[in-house]
Amino acid sequence: MSRILTGKVVIATHNPGKLAEMRELLAPFGVEAVSAGALGLSEPDETGTMFAENAAIKAKAAADATGLPAFADDSGLCVDALDGAPGIFSARWAGPDKDFTGAMARIFSELDRREAGDRRAHFVSALVLAWPDGHTEQFEGRVFGDLVEPRGSAGFGYDPIFRPDGHARTFGEMSAEEKHGVDWRKGEGLSHRARAFVLLSRACLAPAP
Ligand code: IMP
Repeated sequence: MSRILTGKVVIATHNPGKLAEMRELLAPFGVEAVSAGALGLSEPDETGTMFAENAAIKAKAAADATGLPAFADDSGLCVDALDGAPGIFSARWAGPDKDFTGAMARIFSELDRREAGDRRAHFVSALVLAWPDGHTEQFEGRVFGDLVEPRGSAGFGYDPIFRPDGHARTFGEMSAEEKHGVDWRKGEGLSHRARAFVLLSRACLAPAP
């Protein structure tokens, strides 16, 4: 049986792009969200080898530090022809300056170096909700698509080079609402984070909108 989240929750991220998206997704549920940054929490080292492990490290650290339920996303872009890279290292490919123009260029230069014509990729989001008593809930969402030359300036990270299947535009060319693509009634979403969040909302947030 899943545990229902009520009251206040800490969003355990220091990434402004993710924070904005999580707040947007939580908005319909009347849960009060405070960010790890606003609480002055430090960022734990992401020592896991899988998305879900790193999400659990972040969520548990925030729940322990605050005594509140906390949720964290660990996410990234996996490129088929690069054997899944950058994957859990997606943020690290941008370096300390968070240079995603450079990180996107690196993806294409690695593809060229391997003479790979395959442009298939997917985003993954692992969401973990952790309570201070150690209880956790875990959800995962994926979205598949193709890599294209950077287009659009909306969103964050690798959004400009990712065109989801069935769409002509990249995430960088979509509004936040389009990128989430959430239909609460049908229980569907477009982005990896929205898909994971729809699962989380059905299990742990009540009442659904
Ligand atoms: P982490 O989960 O904090 O390790 O960082 C994940 C990284 O993956 C982000 O910094 C982005 O570079 C990338 N990423 C995750 N989700 C998205 C997304 O929705 N759009 C674009 N890039 C993303």
